[in-house]
Amino acid sequence: MSKVYLLLGANIGNKNDTFRRAAFIIESAVGQIIMRSSIYETEPWGFQSDDFFWNQVLVLRTSLPALDILQHIQKTERALGRIRKQSGYESRSIDIDILFYDDQIIDQPDLTVPHPRIQERNFVLAPLNEVAPGLVHPILKKTIGELYRECPDKLNVRKLDIN
Ligand code: AMP
Repeated sequence: MSKVYLLLGANIGNKNDTFRRAAFIIESAVGQIIMRSSIYETEPWGFQSDDFFWNQVLVLRTSLPALDILQHIQKTERALGRIRKQSGYESRSIDIDILFYDDQIIDQPDLTVPHPRIQERNFVLAPLNEVAPGLVHPILKKTIGELYRECPDKLNVRKLDIN
């Protein structure tokens, strides 16, 4: 069995409902959720919007290879109404990224793991630090706690009192 770390993000629609449904679909398709972070309200990164994001990290045990998980999360995004209008950063009803897959380093046309921008973003590091502060990034060779403390990102991240 492998351990996969996923990041959920959404800034439009009924985020509570979307996150609940995403976790349900992912758990039935990919494997058991063994940890989930709090939900964080985060400022949009890379574009202007008044619609703040929600982000949450899910940790799953899985017997699926990473590329199969990518297919499942893209299917889940479509099922939950994600429409890709343009390239670049935009509002979205759901975005699901693979952050880590064990300590594997994957560099394929459709899949880069660890996700290449983890260390630049508080909206990833804050929830990840809650569930895995000691996890060592297999390329940067630093823990999530260290990466979070060193992260230059100044955008606001606030833990919400819901789960
Ligand atoms: P996004 O628009 O942020 O959802 O990006 C999705 C695209 O990124 C898809 O075409 C994926 O094939 C690609 N991708 C590359 N690495 C990853 C990853 N670690 N997790 C999710 N999508 C990825």
